[in-house]
Amino acid sequence: MKKPNIVILGAGYGGLMVATRLQKQLGVNEAEIFLVNKNDYHYETTWLHEASAGTLHHDKVRYDVASVIDKNKVTFIQDTVQKISTADKKVVLEGQELSYDYLVVALGAEPETFGIKGLHEYAFMISNVNSARQLREHIEYQFATYNNEAEKDDTRLRIVVGGAGFTGIEFLGELANRVPDLCKEYDIDYHKVKIICVEAAPTALPGFDPELVDYAVSHLERKGVEFKIGTAIKECTPDGFIVAKGENDVEEIKAKTVVWAAGVRGNSIVEESGFEAMRGRVKVEKTLSAPGHNDVFIIGDCALMINEEINRPYPPTAQISMQQGELCANNLVTLVRGKGNLQEFKFDDKGTVCSLGHDDGVGVVFGKKITGSKAAFMKKVVDNRALFMIGGPGLVLKKGKFNFF
Ligand code: FAD
Ligand code: NAD
Repeated sequence: MKKPNIVILGAGYGGLMVATRLQKQLGVNEAEIFLVNKNDYHYETTWLHEASAGTLHHDKVRYDVASVIDKNKVTFIQDTVQKISTADKKVVLEGQELSYDYLVVALGAEPETFGIKGLHEYAFMISNVNSARQLREHIEYQFATYNNEAEKDDTRLRIVVGGAGFTGIEFLGELANRVPDLCKEYDIDYHKVKIICVEAAPTALPGFDPELVDYAVSHLERKGVEFKIGTAIKECTPDGFIVAKGENDVEEIKAKTVVWAAGVRGNSIVEESGFEAMRGRVKVEKTLSAPGHNDVFIIGDCALMINEEINRPYPPTAQISMQQGELCANNLVTLVRGKGNLQEFKFDDKGTVCSLGHDDGVGVVFGKKITGSKAAFMKKVVDNRALFMIGGPGLVLKKGKFNFF
């Protein structure tokens, strides 16, 4: 009998969890497993703010997909997914087409620009290794250029971050630590540098514990970050952001570096392939299959699941992506073997930790609030755990974070 083809799209947190769990659970004769990813490396999306600010080299945030894959059981294909055709059970890649019996869509997120003019053209975004590398180099170039021009342009030393969600705040934490080093390196007066964060909601980190939000904002303000809360970005131009507080209070913030960190959506390939989606996220069944497609599973940032306790979607995180990856692998094993019932997903929320640089942070872990070095320590434990879950102790030793103090 022909072995079923399992095709996994994306080697991020969700996709790699599925691949590494399947290679443990299924024998070589039970299924053909294909893993498709744009790059030959996996990157820790959750560390990209560090690579973007230049506090961690981008090679530290990535590792070869091949290093965690059992080549006897999983065939890795480095290619870019263009379209999924459920009608003929095929995936169109740039270089070839792949047929599937079971498909896992784990293609991650894209920045959500809400149609705001100029963002794609002029703003930097924190979304992958290349964008992180570009942002780090751009900031460094501005500092290097400042003293080399006869007429000093202070906007070279101005960095504006759009959004004070977790990505914005974590990036600001790294940036606040990096700027004093950049000033020293390029002979720049620290007081000339301006870091501004623009947040549309009435608070930073909307929805997070208010006491921890105060801690985070005060910490960053002490390090020189200026917050413009309740202020929305309306447009991005080659010169900076146009923002507004209320309807009429419009202001232009001139800066050579503007960063859009104000939200994400699921990968657009999902809706372009005909799945019904809300901002690129498909409201999946409890078994993680796409509605009407028992042979297609959608996990991670492309999936939408409602937290029934508060009747709102769970925020897209690495934590939920990895848990979904684990359950998805179990369900695929059940389908391949043709016995047993599919399991239903239940999120086991272990908490949230937000870093404020490598040495500080805020968080709620197992229901307890933590701040300062305790939170920074916990964040590294969480980062190392993600490596362990996919590549075991070997990967933790190779890529882990051990600068605990
Ligand atoms: P990803 O891990 O992003 O993987 C998607 C993969 O698909 C990538 O390898 C990508 O290259 C590949 N891909 C995309 N398009 C294509 C294509 N067309 N063809 C082939 N391959 C493709 N969450 C937490 O839980 N804790 C945190 O501390 C945390 N910190 C974060 C910090 C930052 C700066 C950011 C941006 C996010 C953070 N998140 C955090 C959120 C978390 O990173 C995401 O929710 C998580 O990465 C989603 O996992 P995923 O498997 O869906 O996608
Ligand atoms: P987000 O949606 O959580 O936050 C975006 C922020 O931008 C919001 O505060 C929003 O009010 C603001 N915003 C939106 N439009 C704006 C505008 N026009 N002008 C100014 N501000 C505007 O997005 P994110 O921070 O990119 O996070 C994405 C996902 O990744 C979330 O689910 C988050 O929980 C997760 N994440 C988690 C961590 C962590 O656990 N440490 C870190 C980073 C990201």
